[in-house]
Amino acid sequence: MAGLATAALLARAGRKVVVLEKGNQLGGLAYTHVDQGFVLNYGAHAIYRPHTGLLAEVLKRLGRPRIEAPYPNPRTSYFALDGRWGALGPRPQHLLTTSLFPFASRLRLLPLMAHLRYGNPANAGNSTVSEWLDQHTNDPNLRRFFLAIATLNTYTRPAGALSAQFVLRHLQRSLFVKDYVGYMSGGWSTMYDSFAAALRERGGETSTGVSVGQLVVQDGRVVAALAGDRRYEADVFVVTVPPQDAPALAEPGSPLWLELDRWRGLQDVRALCIDLGFSRRLRTDLTFVYDADYDLYYSLHSEVTPDLAPEGGQLLHAMAYLSPEESTNEYLHKRRQQELEDGLDRHFPGWREATIVRRTLPRAQVAAARSTPDQLGSARVPVRSQTARNLLFAGNARDLPYNLTDISLASALEVAELIERELPTQRRRVPVEAVH
Ligand SMILES: Cc1cc2nc3c(=O)[nH]c(=O)nc-3n(C[C@H](O)[C@H](O)[C@H](O)COP(=O)(O)OP(=O)(O)OC[C@H]3O[C@@H](n4cnc5c(N)ncnc54)[C@H](O)[C@@H]3O)c2cc1C
Repeated sequence: MAGLATAALLARAGRKVVVLEKGNQLGGLAYTHVDQGFVLNYGAHAIYRPHTGLLAEVLKRLGRPRIEAPYPNPRTSYFALDGRWGALGPRPQHLLTTSLFPFASRLRLLPLMAHLRYGNPANAGNSTVSEWLDQHTNDPNLRRFFLAIATLNTYTRPAGALSAQFVLRHLQRSLFVKDYVGYMSGGWSTMYDSFAAALRERGGETSTGVSVGQLVVQDGRVVAALAGDRRYEADVFVVTVPPQDAPALAEPGSPLWLELDRWRGLQDVRALCIDLGFSRRLRTDLTFVYDADYDLYYSLHSEVTPDLAPEGGQLLHAMAYLSPEESTNEYLHKRRQQELEDGLDRHFPGWREATIVRRTLPRAQVAAARSTPDQLGSARVPVRSQTARNLLFAGNARDLPYNLTDISLASALEVAELIERELPTQRRRVPVEAVH
């Protein structure tokens, strides 16, 4: 997303650009694959503020049409919490009648929502979500509900360790708006195909199956990217790889390597996903369940965006958010998979018999960096390298105050603007040479 969006924006501004992608197809973490008419995104599915947010901004600048992304129905979106079950409803006042909490908790929810809506996120300083909750409520139902909302939006478990400022900023931006979250028609390939089309229309290129192995630095500038026996020369290089993989691009021991090596230890966000294509519409009375007792997520994407499943079928995306321990310890991971399948039995009885397509992603990397207080700010990837001035960074681990794909898109806008400002206009056609 970050690479294609940056490249398309630069091509639109008249620059000559090439995107080098090591995979055999475009899309990265958003890659979309169709199996028997079921549209399976690698992972990403919910785009925040699809019609008024950063995606809309990028499409506008590229002169591309808006992408249809219908919204899930809040009346059929349920939470399960401590044996209770309830929909939240489309407006904040519906929280007063939800069956998810006992009456006393519903009343206590109002001041908490007010803090969320009108409080200044910066006031949370460096505190974690758990610390922020300590200050604002001691109601156990509300604490667990808030943690569930935080995990749901960031994919991070445990959510209590997240930066409160980061979570509040995201929720404030996306929870109280009409254009809150949508599921893209045609899957996420609709988005990256649109970026790639904008790129190619302006003469830009994409090369798949090209894994960059090294960046060659001379006199404080990157002069070439090496991929196998190919050498790519350019005025500017934009790297969007996960930061943990970035050190491998520099010569060991070099100043660039020392700079990039700091990111090797960044703790990432992982999830266990099971996508199921059903031969029939198994449940038509709900679109979404968040099982807050186990941090499990089930969404019938095709009930929101029907073209994601063939006629008469249904597409379910089930997910278990993984703590760092659960993504590395085999026993804990197995237990998580069992919890996810037990939840399928609870919420979607008959799912095994109805399944005609199944895909499991045991440890999908959702984001390269957890947004805990110690992994924000200077711990994150900056826009520019300190050791190679023409080396810029984009992607979902950048130091920008957004969430998930919005970070990738915001970083693309920032990097494209920076290049526009800094490269002299007489060099509008940036030479990108592939020297074999
Ligand atoms: C299960 C799951 C659920 C998600 N859900 C959501 C969601 O609901 N909403 C949301 O907004 N986001 C979601 N995301 C996150 C979203 O998919 C990513 O934030 C976004 O797609 C990241 O794009 P990117 O360009 O920054 O990084 P990437 O997609 O990681 O792109 C990096 C690219 O670099 C390539 N590459 C790596 N090394 C090299 C090399 N040496 N040479 C050449 N190419 C290289 C990779 O192949 C890849 O294509 C989800 C992700 C997952 C996995």
